[in-house]
Amino acid sequence: MQPKAQLLGLPSYQPGKPIEEVKKELGLTKIVKLASNENPFGASPKASEAIKKAAGETAVYPDGYARQLRESVAKQLQVDENQLIFGNGSDEVIQFLCRTFLEKGTNTVTAHPTFSQYKLNATIEGAEIREVALKDGVHDLDAMLDAIDENTKIVWVCNPNNPTGTYVKEEAFVRFLDQVPPHVIVVSDEAYYEYVTASDYPETVPLIDRYKQLVVLRTFSKAYGLAALRVGFGVASKELISYLEPVRPPFNNVTFGQIAAVSAIEDQAFIAECVEKNNEGMKQFEEFCQKHQLRYFPSQTNFLLIEVGLDGDEVFQALLREGFIVRSGNPLGYPNSIRITIGKKEDNAALFEALERVLTQTSLPQHS
Ligand SMILES: *Cc1c(COP(=O)(O)O)cnc(C)c1O
Repeated sequence: MQPKAQLLGLPSYQPGKPIEEVKKELGLTKIVKLASNENPFGASPKASEAIKKAAGETAVYPDGYARQLRESVAKQLQVDENQLIFGNGSDEVIQFLCRTFLEKGTNTVTAHPTFSQYKLNATIEGAEIREVALKDGVHDLDAMLDAIDENTKIVWVCNPNNPTGTYVKEEAFVRFLDQVPPHVIVVSDEAYYEYVTASDYPETVPLIDRYKQLVVLRTFSKAYGLAALRVGFGVASKELISYLEPVRPPFNNVTFGQIAAVSAIEDQAFIAECVEKNNEGMKQFEEFCQKHQLRYFPSQTNFLLIEVGLDGDEVFQALLREGFIVRSGNPLGYPNSIRITIGKKEDNAALFEALERVLTQTSLPQHS
């Protein structure tokens, strides 16, 4: 057997242990997961009602063109239906983009640190990855422009950025688009779009008419609370979408995902409520950090990257013993930090108590 050379040494995704298993191992009765930026308040009840109603519809394939969902998203974003492509999570749309445009001899430009899937998928396609360091935690768009050459196919702007939560401002993004050569695709990954409150954050969908190489990615996994159902999408010019469609597997979005997403879009009051609670939770977190003089990147998302001044893996382990699953900054490019999803008010408060205990310990517990 001989896999593609670029696959040798690629690690497989390491899933976290199931919560039930961790509970048993550590003798805990309650575990709060604040690791993957899911919505701690779940999803609109309308979504689960719709799934229940459709529960019997398992024998037929899903609608391979996601017509109802397409209609509903097109209306919400005021774009044509053929300007959308749906993926099994926006992760899958990232995969479509890489499969469509990248191969050996091409390159792609990303920030560093940023969301891991751009690099992973580009590597699988055999492309060269040009990583440009963040500047003060934000995409360095000028340096990213400098990294572009005639073999560059895609530039990724994760906005807001995961894992820092920082954002690129509208003015900077438009100036960037004006300078990117027309043969280069610009992806704006907006997984946290609904949580953004900054008034100078770019509204990118209306820019698609002017910039034919722009792709906007959105997802139902974060604020919409449908991570389990894997629905994300890309918005772009009709021409660009037509290049991606042949790469998409015919039934990549399951029926329940499509149905739930349609109902979730209709319940904007739920989203507004979650965003409001997230803002309050973010304030709690910022106050905690200020009180303990912990540095963090100001975040436009539902998570915060906090510099704890200790090895992120150790702090992760210590918090796990206290019943909290967070994300170590270590694999994310910030070894002395942890990334924490903003949770429910009472869970945040309990986390702060646990983190206080962990940070004031003279020596952290050993790895088990
Ligand atoms: C969570 C996330 C995604 C993907 O989510 P899906 O569940 O695949 O839709 C994409 N980009 C970023 C930056 C994310 O944080």
